[in-house]
Amino acid sequence: MVTSKAHAVLLASPGMGHIIPMVELGKRLLTHHSFHVTIFLVTTTTSTSQILQQTSNLSSLNIVHVPPIDVSHKLPPNAPIELRIELTMLHSLPFLRSSITSINTLPPPSALIVDMFGLQALPMARDLSMLTYVYFATSAWFAAVTLYFSVADKKIMETHAESREPLPIPGCKPVRFEDTLEAFLSPGGAMYEACLEAAKESVAADGILVNTWEDLEPAATKALRENGVLGGFTKGEVHAVGPLVKKAEGGKKGAVLQWLDGQPDESVIYVSFGSGGTMSENQMREVALGLELSRQRFVWVVRPPCEGDASGAFFDVASGVDSAVGYLPEGFVERTEGVGVVVSLWAPQAEILEHPATGGFVTHCGWNSVLESVESGVPMVAWPLYAEQRMNAFMVSEQLGVAVRVAEKGGGVVGREEVAEMVRRVMVDEEGVRMRKKVKELKLSGEKALCVFGSSHHSLSQMTKHCQVYVSQNKL
Ligand code: UDP
Repeated sequence: MVTSKAHAVLLASPGMGHIIPMVELGKRLLTHHSFHVTIFLVTTTTSTSQILQQTSNLSSLNIVHVPPIDVSHKLPPNAPIELRIELTMLHSLPFLRSSITSINTLPPPSALIVDMFGLQALPMARDLSMLTYVYFATSAWFAAVTLYFSVADKKIMETHAESREPLPIPGCKPVRFEDTLEAFLSPGGAMYEACLEAAKESVAADGILVNTWEDLEPAATKALRENGVLGGFTKGEVHAVGPLVKKAEGGKKGAVLQWLDGQPDESVIYVSFGSGGTMSENQMREVALGLELSRQRFVWVVRPPCEGDASGAFFDVASGVDSAVGYLPEGFVERTEGVGVVVSLWAPQAEILEHPATGGFVTHCGWNSVLESVESGVPMVAWPLYAEQRMNAFMVSEQLGVAVRVAEKGGGVVGREEVAEMVRRVMVDEEGVRMRKKVKELKLSGEKALCVFGSSHHSLSQMTKHCQVYVSQNKL
């Protein structure tokens, strides 16, 4: 059959952790699967766009910046972050619709790909006769939990929340109560209902893409692929297409990379809590003193402290300040001169992780960070903060054996001794050597999945074929 080139429109929701994987998917569709690609970026501040320019080479991509949307006056100040993102996305829909309908390059848009926060755009895409895809920039395990939620018996959810029993997910590992999602803790509550709605929208899409690969998560990808295991409820196929991660792009080296150039191989621990992660001032002090105590070289990305909100910088990584160094314990920067580097607000993470001098990563376990660490062959100290990060932490420490996990203190502070011990377990101890070996094997398996005969390449090719046949049949 003669097939035609398809045009995918990708909609990225606010937050660097959402934008980066969508941009990487766009690059992959463009360079390996002959798609025509347009990416719409929804941001809330201009600083996000500026940081994105520094972070990713976007020159090959057709990017449309949705004018910044500020919903802060429409919500109470302590509104959950998910609600803020959803409202922002809702307000972007009129612009999105008019922009898509006025695209007059050929081929015309034939598929819309959204992330978990862009689901509100799917009815519009159907209305415009476009195929619909949901992209989970998460583990397959998390995707399975979310999708299964659409059909899960409410009684099971209640038992999980009330009796603290593990949540059984057909074909996958159960979710332990201590790793569960906040939304699951109050069945019938607003967040729970919002998740249920999202799950129902997702299963109705023409296809689902997940940023993982079969060899990393054999059981969960099988459960998703075979679908029947989870209840046979998704309308379209589920494709594991990863690991799609940002790679170092070369170019001019900043101060931190120049400093890394002068350090021995695998001697530096990189400490970062993602694009949004923030800590209390007390916790920052313990991290600082713990790093000193560990006697290891380090690179630490610091943000101004934020009491009681672990995702405090999610919307605006720059947080309206030039530097966060002033919040560190007195004398810390001077005492650690030559041993460590403190980077304020934002660091070139992909470049740091890929640098030969980097030997460990203290991470909040955002999925992009986990994949970037694996793809750089770097073992981790897992320190989850919010969202599905506890599930990711469980996976890397208990299942994959490539991380040690910080014991949570139920909202309390993790002390300096524990920080130092975790760092040394990865950087110095025999345990670290074993983890490093394992993570390097995973790196190779991820690379294999993406090569021409690999499982993820094959999955994305199938999705491409589906789109091309749709274009041909509908003479778009
Ligand atoms: N990132 C970065 N520099 C920073 C912090 C984060 O380049 O200082 C990038 C990181 O490489 C990753 C993304 O931002 O690609 C964060 O995504 P992740 O899923 O790890 O966490 P989130 O920020 O969504 O919690």
